[in-house]
Amino acid sequence: MTAREPTPSAVVTRFAPSPSGHLHVGGARTALFCWAFAKGRGGRFVLRIEDTDQKRSSDAASIGFVKDLLWLGIGFDEGPQYEGHGGGPNGPYFQAQRLELYQRYFDLLLSRGDAYYAFESADELAAMRARAKERNEPFRYTGEQARALSADEVKRRLAAGDPAVIRFHTRAGPITIHDEILGDATLPNGEVDDFVIRKADGFPTYHFAVVVDDELMGVTHVLRAQEHFNNSAKHIVLQDALRFRRPIYGHLPLIFNPDGSKMSKRDKDKVLRKAVADKGITAPPPGTVDLAQFTAWLKDKNIQLELDAGQSLAQAIGAVLPEINVDDFRRSGYLPEVICNFLALNGWSPGGDVEKFDREFLKANFDLARVVKTAAKFDRTKLLAFNLDAIQAMSRDEFVTRVAAHGREMHPQFMSKLTEAQFRSLCDASHERSKTLDDLFRTNTFLTTPDDDLSWDQKALAKFIRGGTPAGSVHLVAARDLLARCDEWTVPALEAALKPLSDSIGNVGLIAQPLRVAVSGGSVSPPIYDTLAILGRESSLRRIDRCLASL
Ligand code: GLU
Repeated sequence: MTAREPTPSAVVTRFAPSPSGHLHVGGARTALFCWAFAKGRGGRFVLRIEDTDQKRSSDAASIGFVKDLLWLGIGFDEGPQYEGHGGGPNGPYFQAQRLELYQRYFDLLLSRGDAYYAFESADELAAMRARAKERNEPFRYTGEQARALSADEVKRRLAAGDPAVIRFHTRAGPITIHDEILGDATLPNGEVDDFVIRKADGFPTYHFAVVVDDELMGVTHVLRAQEHFNNSAKHIVLQDALRFRRPIYGHLPLIFNPDGSKMSKRDKDKVLRKAVADKGITAPPPGTVDLAQFTAWLKDKNIQLELDAGQSLAQAIGAVLPEINVDDFRRSGYLPEVICNFLALNGWSPGGDVEKFDREFLKANFDLARVVKTAAKFDRTKLLAFNLDAIQAMSRDEFVTRVAAHGREMHPQFMSKLTEAQFRSLCDASHERSKTLDDLFRTNTFLTTPDDDLSWDQKALAKFIRGGTPAGSVHLVAARDLLARCDEWTVPALEAALKPLSDSIGNVGLIAQPLRVAVSGGSVSPPIYDTLAILGRESSLRRIDRCLASL
């Protein structure tokens, strides 16, 4: 710890998302670092929802953020109440519910002459901007005009209901930002203008609310994304005017794709557009996106599909979208502990060769000194390798438990079709090659496809059923006869029923592969007796008959 840090028990960090959209991996990493920093020092971690932009905020998004954080194992000591979590002495933790508190500080600044009402319309401001542009100067609102209004005039206009904002009166002088990660930077005089602190709708701006809340919630350390670095200047001048304590700042590097582009929702549209083109799809499959929307989206690269629409289109055409948000990774079957481990490495390193660690280790070791200054690159291949390793290291029981939990949430229909024993044998058969908790569901969709909708991979048909001497179909017919006479439909009974045939052929594979293709549509499935047992007698025979009939 450096000398400037307060006593350990006093450390308070906060994660302060604006609840629109979903929790991005970058935000998740900020939360993780805030959590680790506070918890590793016996401090408190606060979750605060910054919903002052009413148009863009939603309750659903707030709940989504909370759920994602809890799924990652990032619990908070104070914050919105959700299923036994949250609450605390410094609430409410939604900024939209704190307007009265903010008003107190607006009044204080107004009474001291550190803030003033301004009545310029959007057109007037645009004209001021245009004039600055003509002069080739950056626009800085200085407010001579607004500040020249008499108190009576201001009163009269407010009473008349003229739209007004409150602006902070920034005093002349350079502003120095101390940052534990990036070092110090001084903004020259005039860089910060008289910015808006209360919007015409009565809500505080981000800058104002953040400063008041950080003070009232006792935040000692502000760790947030680097894009907020310059905002700190505004926060500092406000803190000084309000005689608030100054938190310690640490701005975290952004997370980029390996090619240096920003990891954003656009990446999904890009992959989806390519899949649509590659597959020669000209109209959206029914139940996905409507035709007009689809056509507009295809034509204009700047249009993005809504997340759910994009997801359903991707699913219908068999495209896999890149994960960007925490819930994408969750849906794809990544383990939360692996995500945390991997995210921590994107921007921080524990030193030495250590790469794999858990949250407890992070908590005990996280420090600002080893946070990097430059952008981190998100290496998906490495993440997948981490996930595979973690899954391989699980016991069989743990694998079954975790896949089942994933399945109940993401694939309830699939789960409802299998008995516990069938599911367990599917898990046992899939554990070794599973890179994610979702692989087993993705690769075994044939189990839940209606029998009459099953189609066959042409290559597999050619190789294993039409091909061979004699053709695989000959063995398939013989196997079908034996199966039809098998009373008991269990793995040992099925194995016993087919044994005479496999013994006479001398190669189990020559029966197993045609059977597998016939019942699953392709050449990869769990062991054949498990596959047949899971499908059941009726489905298995029906699929074999349909396959033979299709030849
Ligand atoms: N609501 C801001 C955001 O989501 C928080 C910035 C901050 O941590 O101060 O980016």
